[in-house]
Amino acid sequence: MKKIIFIIFLTISTQLIASEYSVSYVNSSRKDHLLVVKLDNRNYFNIYDLERVFDGKVSIEPNSQTITLTIFEKKCKFFFYTKWVKFGNQNYNLYADIRIADGNFYVPEHFIQLCSKKLFSELVIIEGNCIIVNLSSMENFLIKKIVIDPGHGGKDPGAVGRILKLKEKDIVLEISKEVKELLSKNLDVEVLLTRETDKFVSLGDRTDFANNHQADLFISIHCNAAYNRKANGTEVYYLSPAKTDEARAVEALENDAIRFEDPESIKRYTDLDFILYDMRQSEYLIESIELAEICQNSLVKELDTKDKGVKYANFYVLRGAFMPAVLVEVAFLSNKWEEQRLKSSWFQNQAAKAIYDSIKQFKEKYDKMN
Ligand SMILES: [Zn+2]
Repeated sequence: MKKIIFIIFLTISTQLIASEYSVSYVNSSRKDHLLVVKLDNRNYFNIYDLERVFDGKVSIEPNSQTITLTIFEKKCKFFFYTKWVKFGNQNYNLYADIRIADGNFYVPEHFIQLCSKKLFSELVIIEGNCIIVNLSSMENFLIKKIVIDPGHGGKDPGAVGRILKLKEKDIVLEISKEVKELLSKNLDVEVLLTRETDKFVSLGDRTDFANNHQADLFISIHCNAAYNRKANGTEVYYLSPAKTDEARAVEALENDAIRFEDPESIKRYTDLDFILYDMRQSEYLIESIELAEICQNSLVKELDTKDKGVKYANFYVLRGAFMPAVLVEVAFLSNKWEEQRLKSSWFQNQAAKAIYDSIKQFKEKYDKMN
């Protein structure tokens, strides 16, 4: 009896599968196949097979009776029991209805033709029964999510001005909020702040935050301080072992926030961690240097501050970021003239604008390459 059931089951299953495409990937040894299933004499793909083959994402909205397949970062929206797929502002005919069977969603075979001829003609090529998919261009660098990190906060005031007693944590929070506002308003990006209020955030938690949100850029904003009261100007850092004595001094100053952290979190900054982090970060070294240079030029131009140049230092706060990351020192709180300037909202807004402009310029360049 069991045997008979098994045979019947096997027959039904094989009847369901009409044929298959073999799938290969440009610049990759990865191989896959895409099954074609017959439902009422029409050919279909299971949407979850399409999701796998294209490294896509399926989301179902039962209320609006839609199912969205995001592939190549674009949304293909299907409507239950209709033969339409919406892509951008246009509807395309699939010549058969979307089907739901056994808890699965089935998309008409014509969809693959549509992908290769219209929707993704450069990324999906069909040759007979072979589909060639170009996912490699998707691995390139696109900037969609940006984390802005206002330095210090809460029990850690950062640098404190000599005359007006301005606190670094307050100034950088104002500038960061303005950067967020400009970015959100003018660019198609998601912007997150590591802190929105005057609260303490450990250095490790700042980069964890950026990594967990899979940010594409990390920008830490600070004000500088030095024993030399005359020291003034703007500098932007990227991560690398510190070389100059001056860079080491700034590094010591910013890394000093660690003393506000509990012993448990300090354990994270072991040598081994550093090596691993440093390696990961160096993957983005070229981008980080480039962003630092654009940012430096933009700040000096907008603020008319002394150009102290792009520098590299070994900041804990940049160390854990697996993305291009820079640390901006807007101006010196320890300099009486610059402390005065840092107090004014005009200056804060100009600093924010300069940082925003540089992100915009950096993003436009990298988006164009993709
Ligand atoms: Zn700082």
